Amino acid sequence: MTHDAYRIEILREQYEDSFESAQEHRREGRKQAAARAYADAAETLAKLDEASDVDRAHQVERLERAAEILRRGEDLEDHFKRNQESTGDGPSGGGDGPPPGGGEGDEEMRAQMESFIAETSTTWQDIGGLDDVQHDLKQAVALGSIADKPDAVSATERVLMFGPPGTGKTLLASAVAGSLDATFFKIELGNLLSKWYGESSKQISALFETAAELSPSVIFLDEVDSLAQSRDGDMNETSRRVLDTLLAELDGVDKGSDDFVLTLAATNTPWHLDSAIRSRFPKRIHVPLPGVDAATEIIRIHTVHGGVEFEGHPTAFVDDPGLASDGDSPARAIARRCVDDGYTGRDMEALCRAAVNNMIDQRNPDLARLVDESVKRLRSHTLDVGRIQPRDIAHAFATTAPSLPEEDVARFYDWNDEYGSQT
Ligand code: ADP
Repeated sequence: MTHDAYRIEILREQYEDSFESAQEHRREGRKQAAARAYADAAETLAKLDEASDVDRAHQVERLERAAEILRRGEDLEDHFKRNQESTGDGPSGGGDGPPPGGGEGDEEMRAQMESFIAETSTTWQDIGGLDDVQHDLKQAVALGSIADKPDAVSATERVLMFGPPGTGKTLLASAVAGSLDATFFKIELGNLLSKWYGESSKQISALFETAAELSPSVIFLDEVDSLAQSRDGDMNETSRRVLDTLLAELDGVDKGSDDFVLTLAATNTPWHLDSAIRSRFPKRIHVPLPGVDAATEIIRIHTVHGGVEFEGHPTAFVDDPGLASDGDSPARAIARRCVDDGYTGRDMEALCRAAVNNMIDQRNPDLARLVDESVKRLRSHTLDVGRIQPRDIAHAFATTAPSLPEEDVARFYDWNDEYGSQT
């Protein structure tokens, strides 16, 4: 760690400590101690701004104001209530902002939680292949949704999906949420940690609480490996706190109540997973690169299901005629070539998009010129949509490539052999 990074880390820790102790003093009614701790937090945050070049002036100001009000012996809540009444401001009006963690703080937290809620209209039909994974997830959903069941029959409420990037893990989580009509919380842990470093652990608690309130819910924790490293290894204090909170919440999720909160975690690097996290997810499902059947479906989803058909003899769609046979459809012939080259689902989507775009370019050579003439006229312009020809696919293969090195694929199978749940 460089000197600067080390200093930033220390300042972050100091800020968190001061802030938390300020909150605690305030809750316990120790105003002067709370004022001192808020002032310390403000000072540390200002230093952190300087060191890390992030502008948190507004937050520093609010902390200083909170310290000042408490120093005068006033209650923060009363102060802000009075202030709002006298200015006629609503909670988010322009008067004195309430303290961090208090009134508006809670609202802010709530707003952040709501920002994690993702709309999803994904259905199981949008997913090509992955039948076993779909079956496991559907079973978890079904059992979780049935209220009346003997104690011995329990639903899996935590599922870990691991596999190469772009193989459909997010898609599966969205389909689970879509099929349940559940509230879908989508969290990228790496992002959460870097964006909300001081607050991330509180956010994790708030997240699980909100998910229970809005049950049935699906919490999708993407990049769960970012809370990685062995617990005694190189992990900073914030990550460690978040990890501990997450573990506590995961332990709490399936206790008691009728709420249904399904936690789906995903990782592209399962070997980096913290062992404590791994053990909280007894169900660990490998989401592999697609085989020929799955790849055929994926190709069809991103072409035919979207209203664009193929035209041509199947063997014309592959560079090596030995790859396809007469009984194949064009989609299947293309799928064979994709599997041969190690394409992920996302790579295939890109391939289909490139092929469709090429076909559109060929048939509508004037499109770009129309933009120069009048964008308005484009609305009523009729696009010439044809069928995807072998030359479009040849162009698409020439402009796309598999994103995953072959040696990485084996690593997922090895990890699956060691830690995956064999169903
Ligand atoms: P991951 O979460 O595993 O990194 P995603 O679920 O985000 O991957 O997939 C990325 C995109 O690739 C999807 O939005 C979809 O367009 C396409 N894709 C990947 N796998 C599949 C699949 N099995 N069926 C259909 N599309 C897929």
